[in-house]
Amino acid sequence: MKLVIDNRTPYLNDYYFQTMCLLYFPGEKFKEGFESENYAHFYLEETQKNCFTARVTLGSGDISAEGSFSGAYTPSIPMNDDFYAMNALGKAFLEAGERLFGFGLPWGYITGLRPVKRAKYYLDRGYTAEQVITLFNRDYEVSTEKSTLSVETALIQQKMLADIKPNDCGLYVSIPFCPTRCDYCSFVSYSNARLFSLIPDYLEKLMRDIRETGEMIKKLGMRVRSIYIGGGTPSILDEFQIGRLLSTINQSVDINESTEYTFEAGRPDTVTYEKLMAVKDNGVRRISINPQTTSDFVLEQIGRKHSSKQFFDAAETAMKIGFDTVNADLIAGLPGDTEASFRKSVDDVIDLGFQNITVHTLSIKNAATIRFVGDGFYDPQGDFARSSVEYARAKLKSFGYAPYYLYRQKNTVGNAENTGYTLPGKENLYNVLMMEEHSTVFACGAGSITKLVSEDRNDILRHAFPKYPYEYLSMEKSLGYEEAKAFFAQHRKDEI
Ligand code: SF4
Repeated sequence: MKLVIDNRTPYLNDYYFQTMCLLYFPGEKFKEGFESENYAHFYLEETQKNCFTARVTLGSGDISAEGSFSGAYTPSIPMNDDFYAMNALGKAFLEAGERLFGFGLPWGYITGLRPVKRAKYYLDRGYTAEQVITLFNRDYEVSTEKSTLSVETALIQQKMLADIKPNDCGLYVSIPFCPTRCDYCSFVSYSNARLFSLIPDYLEKLMRDIRETGEMIKKLGMRVRSIYIGGGTPSILDEFQIGRLLSTINQSVDINESTEYTFEAGRPDTVTYEKLMAVKDNGVRRISINPQTTSDFVLEQIGRKHSSKQFFDAAETAMKIGFDTVNADLIAGLPGDTEASFRKSVDDVIDLGFQNITVHTLSIKNAATIRFVGDGFYDPQGDFARSSVEYARAKLKSFGYAPYYLYRQKNTVGNAENTGYTLPGKENLYNVLMMEEHSTVFACGAGSITKLVSEDRNDILRHAFPKYPYEYLSMEKSLGYEEAKAFFAQHRKDEI
């Protein structure tokens, strides 16, 4: 897609404009050589302090439309200087987009900004829920539904995070292997039988890293509040491997009954009674079994090679064994899904008694998902995805579930969001610590990222592990104690 930017302020980089374009042009690329008939032209001028003129032209082939904004906008509450330029550009962009495409955006022009983090920022400073909803509505052009969703989520997070101390942290362990590859997935995961031969070596290296990380956490005087074993598909391991992995974690970090402990089983076709017992016997209290849909037709369309029966069987096994919390992930906007089949998926996971239900929206990220566009399954306006997430929200609310974490991704169908719902008291802390970058999370394993978060949360030191398991196997050194200590010494008030 061709992008022309006339004038800008120092904090508005190319990425900002590109991300904004994706709101109306999902899946576009901005590098030279990418063929597209779509284009955008942004013009920005500061006429006096905090007073901007913005003009935006969006086009596709021979058709184009323009939007503009000019003048001094008075926000609902005092804002940083960068707000004014973003606001002028955002309003002009939305006007152009609505003229060109005939529909508006439920999240307005919010981009590059975590809505819940923003809502919490205002709530923490004494603004009421109503004031924050008005602010989102008026200043960012976010719909009342999405503003309310952000604020409801932020209020729950405020309670969840009230007793989290600066030296509390999370631990993430990555198992980047899957039985087969689902078409819509952009996650780097090995799903080829030949590469499964790496699993034993991978596990050995991972367990060494977990021991070292546990040592480092203790030396830093930190307390692990939440452990999350994710993937990929951790339940691709057999019950003996699972037992070894979990007992390594249990010996490496201090765990008590208040430590949250999650094992993401993920693909139902990998779940067995023996594996879940190994998980339960080692102290895990929360698991995730993810159907994405309970329609066999849709599962086939998205290349997810398991059946709905395998999901129902896995769910029954998990319920019989009895975990504190079981989560199910669903996806809205999948090709082949219909209103009736999406509703049935939501109703099915409620009927099964899952305590956490996470509703994602399909994201157009890779070649396989772009194929969905070509196949005509994907509706760029995303009415179906939008109505699906609204249905899920209303239905889950009526059954006592509340939103407790929320994030947006680029290129989602209908610009809809991903929301984690929970029954009261069953919130998953890890998801919030990680998504909101609220606390330090130490990671182990390929594709994972350790994030050291400063006490005021203004500074984050990221340490990314290699994406591919074979690279991880030859990796010499991960984040060391001295580096972590130096970061916290600089950014934490208490002594280490
Ligand atoms: S199981 Fe999950 S991580 Fe693995 S390929 Fe499918 S969507 Fe991706």
